[in-house]
Amino acid sequence: MKETIDSLAKKVRPDFPLLRREISGRPLVFLDNASTTPKPKAVIDAVVGYYENATANVHRGVHALGEEATRLFDDARREVAGLIGAQPSEIVLVRGTTEAINFVANGLELGPEDEVVFPASEHHANWIPWRVHGKPVPMPIDEDGLPKWDSLEGLITKKTRLVSVGHVSNVTGAIAPVEEIVRIAHAHGVPVLLDAAQSLSHLPLDVQKLGVDFLATSSHKAFGPSGVGILWGRKDFLAKCPLYQVGGGMISLNNDIDVGGFVPRDAPFKFEAGTPAIEATIGFGAAVRYLRQIGLDHIREHDLAMSRYLVEGLADIPGVRVLARKLPPEKRIALATFVVDAPAMTQESVARALSDMFGVCVSAGFHCTHVLHARAKLAGTVRASPHVFNTTEEIDALLEGVREIAG
Ligand code: PLP
Repeated sequence: MKETIDSLAKKVRPDFPLLRREISGRPLVFLDNASTTPKPKAVIDAVVGYYENATANVHRGVHALGEEATRLFDDARREVAGLIGAQPSEIVLVRGTTEAINFVANGLELGPEDEVVFPASEHHANWIPWRVHGKPVPMPIDEDGLPKWDSLEGLITKKTRLVSVGHVSNVTGAIAPVEEIVRIAHAHGVPVLLDAAQSLSHLPLDVQKLGVDFLATSSHKAFGPSGVGILWGRKDFLAKCPLYQVGGGMISLNNDIDVGGFVPRDAPFKFEAGTPAIEATIGFGAAVRYLRQIGLDHIREHDLAMSRYLVEGLADIPGVRVLARKLPPEKRIALATFVVDAPAMTQESVARALSDMFGVCVSAGFHCTHVLHARAKLAGTVRASPHVFNTTEEIDALLEGVREIAG
C-alpha cells in the first residue's frame, strides 16, 4: 500500500512549487485539496505565458495577439470537453460549480411548486439554489451523513423537475451511485444534474457513460486556477435555455431601430457575455493536460491506497471519530472528515494547532454543509483531503499531530 502511494506521490511532487515551503519551521503538509488544490508549474507557466506573450482579449482582436489568445482560450474548452467525453459546444464557461448549478436552476425556470430532489448532505452550492428557485426535497441521510439512496424513488413525484447530486461528497468522500440514480430518475422522465466539484480530478468522468443531463464543476479543485468552471448541458437544453446575462461578445446582431431586437450567438457563446476569465481558462486547459499526463487511472490507484491508509490511521487513534469510517475505499475518494475529542478545544482550534505545531493544513468547521452537521449532531468537524502528491510520511505527520492533540 505504501509503495503504491509513495511511488506516484514522489514522482509528481516536484511539479508543485507550493509544496517546497515551510510552515512554522516544518515542511508544509498540504491536506486541504477538497477546498482548493495547489497548482503545478505547467499551470502557472500557462497563466504567466499568456501575460508575458499573448495578452489580448478573445474572440474580438483581429491582431496577432488576439488570435493567439483566442486559440489558447478555445483550446482550453476543447481540453475540458475531451476530459469528460463532451463536445466543446456543450461546455458553457462559468465561474465555477456554484455558478453552473445556479445556471441550471435559472435555466429550468422553476416555479415555487417545482420540486428538486437532492441528498440533505449536499454542499450549499447544491442546496440553496433549490430553496431560492424551486421547492427543495432533501433526501434523508444517516448519522454519518451518507444519503439513503434507496429512498430516491419514493421522493420523486409528478412535480419533480430535477434530481441533483454531488458525485463525491465534500464531507464523507463517498461516491454517489450515479448510474443507478440516473436509471431511476430517467424512468420517471426526470433529468439529473451531477455536481462534479470533488470528482473531476479524482475519478475518470464520461458524461455519456454516466448518462447525466448536466455536469457542474470547478477548475480550482483540479489543479487549475480559480474563477472558472463549466456547466456541461445537452444541446437541446442549451438551445432553449433562457439567457441569464447579456452584453458584449454574445451578440451576432443588435438592431438599432427595433428596440429589444438583437440576435444572440449560438450556445455556448450566447451565455458568455463580457470578457471571460481568459488567463484562468487557459490555466484550466493546462490543468486538464496535466491530469491526463498523470492519468486518472493512476490517480485513482493512489487514491484507493491513500483512502485506506488515511481512514484506518485516523480511526485507530483513541478519541477520534471518522465519519463514514466503514465505507470501503472503492466507494470513496481519499478524504476523511473526523471529530477529535479534545477537552476545551473546538474542531477549528484542532485544525489551527495542526497547522501551527505540525505544519499540516486541513479544513475545519461545517464545510458548507450545515444541514449534514445539524442532522449528525456535530458542532464542526476536521477534514483531511490528500491528493496525488501526498506521501504516507505526510499522513504520518497528520496522525502524529492528531494523536498528540487527542491525548
Ligand atoms: N460542490 C461541492 C461538492 C463542493 O465541494 C464545492 C466546493 O467546495 C462546491 C460545490 C462549490 O464549488 P465552487 O466554490 O468552486 O463554486
